[in-house]
Amino acid sequence: MIDRPTIERILDAAQIVDVVQEFVQLKKRGVNYLGLCPFHNEKTPSFTVSPSKEIFKCFGCGKVGNSVNFVMEHEHLTYPEALKYLARKYHIEIVEKELTAEEVEKQNERESLIVVSSYAARQFTENLFQSDEGITVGLTYFKERGFQQSTLKKFEIGYSFDKRDAFSKKALEDGYRKDFLIKTGLSIQHDDHIFDRFSGRVMFPIHSLSGQVLGFGGRVLKTDAKTAKYLNSPESEIYHKSRILYGIYQARKAITQLDKCYLVEGYTDVLSLHEANIENVVASSGTSLTQEQIRLIKRFTQNITILYDGDPAGIKASIRGIDLVLEEGMNVKIVLLPEPEDPDSYSKKVSNEEFTRYLTDNETDFIRFKTQLLLKEANNDPIRKANLIRDIVKSIAVIPDMITRTVYIKECSLVLEVAEPILYHEVNKLQQQKSFQDRNKYPGPEDLPVIPPPVLVKPVKQEILTLYSEKEIIRLLLKFGSLEFQRKITGEEGKVEVLTVSDYIVGEITSDDLLFDDRICANIFAEFRFHVEHGIFPGDKQFVKHEDPEISRLSADLLSDSHELSKIWKNKQTYVETEEMKLKEIIPDAVLKFKGDKIKVLLKDVMTQLEEAVKTNDMERVQALQMKDQNLKVALRMISRKLGNRILL
Ligand SMILES: [Zn+2]
Repeated sequence: MIDRPTIERILDAAQIVDVVQEFVQLKKRGVNYLGLCPFHNEKTPSFTVSPSKEIFKCFGCGKVGNSVNFVMEHEHLTYPEALKYLARKYHIEIVEKELTAEEVEKQNERESLIVVSSYAARQFTENLFQSDEGITVGLTYFKERGFQQSTLKKFEIGYSFDKRDAFSKKALEDGYRKDFLIKTGLSIQHDDHIFDRFSGRVMFPIHSLSGQVLGFGGRVLKTDAKTAKYLNSPESEIYHKSRILYGIYQARKAITQLDKCYLVEGYTDVLSLHEANIENVVASSGTSLTQEQIRLIKRFTQNITILYDGDPAGIKASIRGIDLVLEEGMNVKIVLLPEPEDPDSYSKKVSNEEFTRYLTDNETDFIRFKTQLLLKEANNDPIRKANLIRDIVKSIAVIPDMITRTVYIKECSLVLEVAEPILYHEVNKLQQQKSFQDRNKYPGPEDLPVIPPPVLVKPVKQEILTLYSEKEIIRLLLKFGSLEFQRKITGEEGKVEVLTVSDYIVGEITSDDLLFDDRICANIFAEFRFHVEHGIFPGDKQFVKHEDPEISRLSADLLSDSHELSKIWKNKQTYVETEEMKLKEIIPDAVLKFKGDKIKVLLKDVMTQLEEAVKTNDMERVQALQMKDQNLKVALRMISRKLGNRILL
């Protein structure tokens, strides 16, 4: 946990232009900077950075936020990870909340293991490109298989000498500790000696999302070797096979841009696809996909395409795991390569264009693929066909989206020649079984502790009706909260009272006991109210730099230029005057509009209650509700008149 003062130092130091410029080429345009948006594909720049507001905003895709939001979004980091990134950039020492001795030790160990791994990666690449043995054995192997040096460098491919303790000895000489060499699995202790795990292998470092080397895969080159062809680092404090995908570091940008991820089996498949100009590719390294790996892909895209070579046994074994991917709500497609090719061999056999075209032309939806595959196998045997239907239904039942399920049921009904209702019945049965299992796995509602609902947010959801006017109130508070504002004193001709915009808005809204329905608006308003009641104005920067990323994002959005003119003023076409000159009208109008919207919601509630009361013949209640309805309508009419009938009932 990073402590609050450190977070503030980081936020103060982070200059938005500086932060963005590391990834996007920016040109100065007036007071702002302009560039091509990194979050969507565009040819004319609509990505704006405002140094004075300390925010970025893309007018193409709508992405908006402060420096931390940018780093989170661009580098796919969590909030604390983004803060750490910025701290490194601005040389701010991170003060974390007190850790226990055990936690400190664990963290130090993790860091030491990472240091040892990246040292090893450097040694291995040096061996491959600069030593005689590396060049004649390792580099020749890659050359013969048709790989370019630039690809090998991009993936930091290396070579581990054939001598059984060459690496371990060098590492100890260079001052690396024996226990860390053993814990990373790079070295193996045997009696009094330590040996290299990977001797005589070409080395594929496995990177984390942020590019740190966490582990290795090594391929043996001697044809007569009795050891396994591929060897991986053992599980360690930093390397967890099930949480990592080979190539994700080099692929993440392309995956986001193309909104799709190819999945292959081996390290060299990833390299080959990169050489064929397909960079959105990762490998599961032979193991079947785990939920953690699927979620890793899901951070970048919902679309995953799996490349299979034509071996039927291999396909059958691996499609079992795909239900897990469907369960995550992802779109799964399959490409079957012509026998006997694999991605590596096929991409080298045909031109890049042909290869890409093959992938696009032969992409089949997973459920369709599975149905056809199993149908061919069942070969009209009725019992096998019944099993097959059960198998397909199982895959359909895990898909979270109802519409997608319906589409599949329709299609499978046609292909399998089974009536739709039967398939629906089977899917429902499986889903009920699952929800029963889930209920028994987690505590039921009666076992959960009672948490009081937040004070400011009503439990009913009316977001669509009032969201615009809620945001408008927050925008005016953020933008003009500290400015002076004159209010006519009712009943005293010509007399005015001077107060701040936030005093006025907070006063108006709290005196009518009105609540915000949107959680983020409600939180911002609550903070404003707290400050106003203590006589201080919080300032917009506090919200743009807020520790809650949703609050900072909304504030940045509201303060960006697209919201410069409120809707009411746009309608009246008074573009010439700035909002600031019009505060006297804009502020009360926004408050009235907010109140009007809230009344409309109340009216709807009353209507529903009224219908119920009529149904149950509760005449007393009917009368009371009719009265309430009348009063609300009168209030709404008054508001409408004050707004010059601009809000229609
Ligand atoms: Zn954009």
